Amino acid sequence: MSHAILAIDQGTTSSRALLVSPDGTIHASAQEEFPQLYPAEGQVEHDPEAIWQSVLRTSQEVMEAAKNAGRTVVGVGITNQRETIVLWDKETGKPLHNAIVWQDRRTGGFCQALRDEGKEEMVRERTGLLLDPYFSASKLTWLLDEVPGAREAAEAGKLMAGTIDTWLLYKLSGGRSFLTDATNACRTCLFNLETQEWDRGLLELFRIPEGLLPQVTDSAADFGSCDRAHFGTPLPVLSMVGDQQAAAVGQACFTPGDIKSTYGTGCFVLVNTGEEIKRSNNKLLSTVAYRLDGKPTYSVEGSIFIAGAAVQWLRDELRLLENASETAERAEKAKADADVIMVPAFAGMGAPHWSPDARAAVFGMTRATGPDELARAALEGVVYQTMDLIDAMRADGLACDALSVDGGMAANDWFVQRLSDILALPVDRPAALETTALGAAYLGFLQAGIFLSLDDIAQQVSRDHRFEPQMSAEDRDRRLRRWKACVEAVLSVAA
Ligand code: ADP
Repeated sequence: MSHAILAIDQGTTSSRALLVSPDGTIHASAQEEFPQLYPAEGQVEHDPEAIWQSVLRTSQEVMEAAKNAGRTVVGVGITNQRETIVLWDKETGKPLHNAIVWQDRRTGGFCQALRDEGKEEMVRERTGLLLDPYFSASKLTWLLDEVPGAREAAEAGKLMAGTIDTWLLYKLSGGRSFLTDATNACRTCLFNLETQEWDRGLLELFRIPEGLLPQVTDSAADFGSCDRAHFGTPLPVLSMVGDQQAAAVGQACFTPGDIKSTYGTGCFVLVNTGEEIKRSNNKLLSTVAYRLDGKPTYSVEGSIFIAGAAVQWLRDELRLLENASETAERAEKAKADADVIMVPAFAGMGAPHWSPDARAAVFGMTRATGPDELARAALEGVVYQTMDLIDAMRADGLACDALSVDGGMAANDWFVQRLSDILALPVDRPAALETTALGAAYLGFLQAGIFLSLDDIAQQVSRDHRFEPQMSAEDRDRRLRRWKACVEAVLSVAA
């Protein structure tokens, strides 16, 4: 079959476009990194125009490849970094400020003030989230309060706000479509999980005029079509889905209990809970996994802000690595008796600790500690954090007998083996690690009628390798005890 979808995967550090056929084959791809802006301690921004241009260029390159290969592109599927928020002018389409990125902690004080006012319970009840700067709402309040004239313009109906899916759709459609899907909406902290609508009480709490926000739809839906100027043809946009939920679709996590863990910039573990909104007692999030035909399927999510970003730090800030994949070889070479532990709280700690003020630390260094030991500690820090999430999930009564992994870091065999060792669980790695883009493409094929049901998606997923635990229980317990002590130290310094 020569049908294909243009899958746009707009990530935290790069934008990718991929040409995907229904059997999951990737026929062409293009990728561009774009600048990470750090205007002050704890702040992270992206230029929305730079994001759009990188998406447009990579998409045009892939569309050209499709044309040359004689493939029929049936439409576009979008998946994106979540929570990051853009505010723009309705008339000109120009952003009023850089996008405030999900990792940005500038609204920590505001969130704390709302907690002090006793608002967290209401937020949890309605959104399944917590009061943390991670989510979009407080970032949008900040934009409206701090950008001169923004609040008046918003109240006069002159502005639009949205997560990256909405921003890209708006640009792709030449300003005609202003929509988001439920998986993105549910990460804003303004969306009611039960009613599947923007929540008036939360809009009031965060002082957001409702008219500022897009209409919320299913993840596979009629999102309008691309302006002819972009690709020479008015391609329909068939799906939009947040990156972590897209990965769950790409891994075919369709049955309650199915669980996946994606290791990109951060790490996100999602377990499908079916039609039930499962409320965590251990600070995990309840979130929409996907919404089809108006019917949401929910999941419980554990979010860790720093995974591959710790490797990036070693590469870009300390300049200890040429590239990320070198960590496998270095971890292998690291001295066996070195007990170096990195708690990678570079952007605070997410689940299950939720400490926006926590900062990273390295414990147990000696004069013999070098790049190899630090590389191993960075990989292990991500492994231990995953263990904390799995513990929290179990404490919530969610079974976890095996884990499926994907994302850039999952290509690292040493890392995946250590994950299996520390979790004491089999860890499965799919043949295709681009599950995020595949998830968006598969939902697109569903909307196009090329797939008839989720079963058609499940049939495309195949496993490449199963890693089995090899570490002794004694060794594992000793390491986990040390890790816990290190986390406590980091949290107590932040407190
Ligand atoms: P995102 O979509 O969040 O930008 P990706 O899924 O592309 O992330 O993964 C990239 C991240 O994974 C980077 O932070 C990088 O440091 C890390 N990474 C990529 N390959 C490896 C590897 N072989 N070993 C360890 N980390 C890796």
